[in-house]
Amino acid sequence: MSNAINLGKIFGIQFRLHYSWFIIFVLITVSLSWQYFPIVYPDWSRPIYWVIGVVTSLLFFASVVAHELAHSLVARINGIPVKSITLFIFGGIARITREATRAGAELKMAAAGPACSLVIGGLFFLLHILIRNTNESISAMAFWLAYINVALAAFNMIPGFPLDGGRVFRSVMWRVSGNYKRSTQIATWVGQGVGYLFILGGILIIFLRPFGLSWFSGLWLAFIGWFLGNAASASYRQAQWREALQGFTAAQMMNRDCPVVPPNITVNWLVQGYVLTSGHHFFLVADEGELKGVLTLHNIKAVPQQNWDVAQVKEIMTPVEKLKVAHLDQDALSILEQMDENDINQMPVASEGRVIGLISRDSLIRFLRTRSELGM
Ligand SMILES: [Zn+2]
Repeated sequence: MSNAINLGKIFGIQFRLHYSWFIIFVLITVSLSWQYFPIVYPDWSRPIYWVIGVVTSLLFFASVVAHELAHSLVARINGIPVKSITLFIFGGIARITREATRAGAELKMAAAGPACSLVIGGLFFLLHILIRNTNESISAMAFWLAYINVALAAFNMIPGFPLDGGRVFRSVMWRVSGNYKRSTQIATWVGQGVGYLFILGGILIIFLRPFGLSWFSGLWLAFIGWFLGNAASASYRQAQWREALQGFTAAQMMNRDCPVVPPNITVNWLVQGYVLTSGHHFFLVADEGELKGVLTLHNIKAVPQQNWDVAQVKEIMTPVEKLKVAHLDQDALSILEQMDENDINQMPVASEGRVIGLISRDSLIRFLRTRSELGM
């Protein structure tokens, strides 16, 4: 997910805010300060509603971060690196770079988030009880936070993939049956089913408005359903890839006739002589077989056209020091994981310091598609 602001690191994990988060932050703050608190506690002053609303909203998102941190820290204990935690419009996402390879680890990782939310909910409820008679506004805030954290735990325990509950469900099926693929498939079907139910529920709310619910809550529910359904399908596709890539190496999947350009030509020469004639979007830069860097249309577009006559390829390429390079006998699955970890779509393949090909996400997909067409 790009379009996010980096806010620094917590426990060594990059913490980011996606721009869409601001929408949900404003929505929640406004609905608390304008509706919920004024209706439930009618005798506070206007500014108090807003101060308590903003603080409550911020603490809610801190709770979401704690939930994601719980997943992340348990993942790390199990030897699975975590790249980042991002808050976005539908909550939080921890980017855990690999799937767990054991059912037990997956179960602990998945359950940690909802367990953390339940504990936080319990603590807020305790706070609410303790200060109920001394400070109404803070106790009201603690009560809402207790309620929302328990709701968060409950929502996440819905047994559809890729929600936490879906992961718990999968890990239990996986442990019982020993069949990872089948377990993933069933948890995905449930996940897609939950998505459709949410969409259906949302549409019913929009048209029937039961229990005084607004058309907006219907729309919101439908959106969440759509998001969940998509996420379920995407996670399943990824699981299928992983399964299919097992046992293959870079040597079998790489593209050996990837265009190679010399480092000393000008950008203009590159564009006229290579880019326009070959139609390729990606080039290896090598000097007598030795990899110097890679070049994409992106690098070229970053140079103003009036400088194309003077700028040289070696000045605008991504140099080899900044590249992730795959080894000839590296397994395909770990290459895909490295691409995911580093947000890249291509990796040059090298053997004994010499570049011999290119492996790209596209070529991985093509490889899998061809195999399935051949019924392999
Ligand atoms: Zn979670």
